[in-house]
Amino acid sequence: MCFFELQIQLDERAAKGLLRSRRTVTSPQSTRLVVDGKPYLSFCSNDYLGLANHPQLIEALQQGTEEFGVGAGAAHLVNGHFASHEQLETELADFVGKPAALLYSTGYMANLGVVQALTGRGDTVFADKLNHASLNDAMLLSRAEVKRYRHNDMAQLASLLEKTISGRKLICTDAVFSMDGDYAPLPELLALCEAHDAWLLVDDAHGFGVLGCQGRGSLSHFALASPRIIYMATLGKAAGVFGAFVAAESVVIKYLFNQSRSYIYTTATPPALSVALLASLKLIREGDVRRAHLHSLIMQLKQGLAGLPWSLMESDTAIQPLVVGDNQAALDLSVALRERGLWVAAIRPPTVPEGTARLRITLSAAHTSAEVAQLVEVLRELAR
Ligand SMILES: *Cc1c(COP(=O)(O)O)cnc(C)c1O
Repeated sequence: MCFFELQIQLDERAAKGLLRSRRTVTSPQSTRLVVDGKPYLSFCSNDYLGLANHPQLIEALQQGTEEFGVGAGAAHLVNGHFASHEQLETELADFVGKPAALLYSTGYMANLGVVQALTGRGDTVFADKLNHASLNDAMLLSRAEVKRYRHNDMAQLASLLEKTISGRKLICTDAVFSMDGDYAPLPELLALCEAHDAWLLVDDAHGFGVLGCQGRGSLSHFALASPRIIYMATLGKAAGVFGAFVAAESVVIKYLFNQSRSYIYTTATPPALSVALLASLKLIREGDVRRAHLHSLIMQLKQGLAGLPWSLMESDTAIQPLVVGDNQAALDLSVALRERGLWVAAIRPPTVPEGTARLRITLSAAHTSAEVAQLVEVLRELAR
């Protein structure tokens, strides 16, 4: 073992301003966080609706543990598939307008499991260059041929599809890009799928609960429905709990629980979490006030930050990236904010392309307009 080499590589990362570190939170997830004993106003969680610490979800989780205990104890296909899992799958499928759904332990595992099960040698996976890391890893694991297209470049994707003659074709895309906050052109992507007999895997980690009628997600936002679409969303972001699901035609779901390795070879999530998620789904459905408030905060931030030396990316979602460019400068800005009691994460390569280091500001329905005004004011002061 050569620990020395590992240390050299870490030192190299540090010299480039790329060393990652962690800080410990000692309060519940919320817009007001206690970190290492100090209070912060936070703008970096994906808890877009402010449900992660909601009293009704806490109560539902407690009831869930009384009914089902704390652990599933086995994989879904052995004896770890509980009534709460089953009910949640049924309600999720109905909510997003699909015949069936399947719970996965995490979004990362869902993406690995879907792409690995549906494609293999001789098939081709097409992917946006800005897709989430889990989709990138999924493509490698599948052993299919991988063709990546420039971000949202439909012309390039069309030409790649035209050149692919044999095998199954699967297009993978984030619906809302996690580090940029912009939408994928889902209607155009679906049209290409239809023209080229391809499948579309839509990763709606950042749309589910937030976009569309009653928070039904990106398919509802674009009024899209097609058996070609395989829909994946996570349950640890707007839904405030943990986990993920895939929704699709019944035959696809049945195929997945027969063939998807990250579904089969892992312990089911605690059934109590599904009880909490059923309560979360109810709050999401009834969450129009939360979503309207979130939307007004997004508008407020965009107006407030106009004309700064750093500019916000083109985004209408709760993800509002402020591009700084240089790695160290992004880190310095995030430290300066922290010294003023504001916590905003700096995102650097390789998570985002070289030269586009940024503050990834995320807004939540739990923020107040005064809190957003405070962030705007401090950023304007730091820009001077
Ligand atoms: C967060 C995220 C995932 C992974 O979901 P987890 O449940 O956190 O594993 C997948 N895709 C996208 C776009 C994400 O933002």
